[in-house]
Amino acid sequence: MSAGRGPRDGRRWPVAVLGATGAVGQTFIRLLADHPWFAIAEVAASERSAGRAYRDAAQWLEGPLPAAVAGLVVKGCHPDEVLSPIVFSALDSGIAGSAELAFARAGRVVLSNARNHRMDFDVPLVVPDVNADHLAILAGQRAARGWTGALVTNANCAATVAAMALAPLHRAFGLKRVFVTTLQAISGAGYPGVPSLDILGSVIPYIADEEPKIEAELPKILGAIGAGGASIAHATFGVSAQANRVPVEHGHTACLSIECERRPTPEQAEDALRGWTGPDGVRGLPSAPAQPLVIAGAPDRPQARRDVHAGRGMSVTVGRVRPDPLLHLRLVALGHNTVVGAAGASILNAEWLASNGVLGT
Ligand code: NAP
Repeated sequence: MSAGRGPRDGRRWPVAVLGATGAVGQTFIRLLADHPWFAIAEVAASERSAGRAYRDAAQWLEGPLPAAVAGLVVKGCHPDEVLSPIVFSALDSGIAGSAELAFARAGRVVLSNARNHRMDFDVPLVVPDVNADHLAILAGQRAARGWTGALVTNANCAATVAAMALAPLHRAFGLKRVFVTTLQAISGAGYPGVPSLDILGSVIPYIADEEPKIEAELPKILGAIGAGGASIAHATFGVSAQANRVPVEHGHTACLSIECERRPTPEQAEDALRGWTGPDGVRGLPSAPAQPLVIAGAPDRPQARRDVHAGRGMSVTVGRVRPDPLLHLRLVALGHNTVVGAAGASILNAEWLASNGVLGT
């Protein structure tokens, strides 16, 4: 089916945002405020927020609060209370696992940012500009789980940035080993997140559970649909990750050292990165950036301050592509953790499902 196909007759699909008061939930609300295909009908969060007007429940962080959402009453995260057919989840992982299953069982299409179901064999783990085609395993998921709903996940925010930079290299040269060191922004820890006295003037060389997530998710994202079409055959390269929290507001940086099956020159690697257009059917969708990867020209880029908003936060900027004295290549990638690394990816996944007829008309 053709990309760019929205709902019939200019109507918009009603959508709900779960975890709407948090850092990712607020990003959903900003990005969906003027969306051509989706209209925010419901917002939901914890019992602390339920029953309050959104403007009172959320500590709004960035730009003007969209007027259409300000007066919505926050609901609890239950499928008998939240009725929209499409559900964007920005829930804390403590509740996301059970809540998202309840919505999918109730026939809703759930697009999740939480870690809980990312590695389930029949759940697509999708960075849309890398592997939107993995969404095709949803038919198998529906058959296996006996539900008419769907559960789609997008990746850990740092894994997303690394996956965007690695995808063209894996396709062209085959990845063998990847060492990744991340420098992750404070907003990656949610709101209110890391105490200011811990992070200002410091670097914290530990983010709970982050390194195993990056190491497990990258081979699934860069894998291929397996025999039978209902699960993903993971790629076989190895990953070693070190994750650090740094005093940056938005934008995760990933410093990558890479060994390939076929050794590329830095010029060949840069050509592969520059030529990446993403999977079929993504370009032209409302949230798709014109260029999924932007190649930084200057030797001191990418920088969070200067490059985090590339492609309205949906592009990953790559720079410093150079030889590695031990492996083959080194490079640096940067992306917006709550946009391409979270809410923006979920929305782009929903647009892909819409344009492929999975959301109905
Ligand atoms: P956050 O700022 O802490 O927000 C968490 C949200 O979950 C809030 O809306 C909160 O509602 C809600 N919540 C917490 N406990 C709940 C419960 N028991 N029942 C219902 N709602 C509950 O976190 P975040 O950074 O936005 O992250 C949201 C999810 O996205 C997490 O799973 C995170 O791992 C993932 N993620 C985050 C990023 C990022 O860059 N921040 C990137 C990728 C993925 P109240 O306000 O009512 O407490």
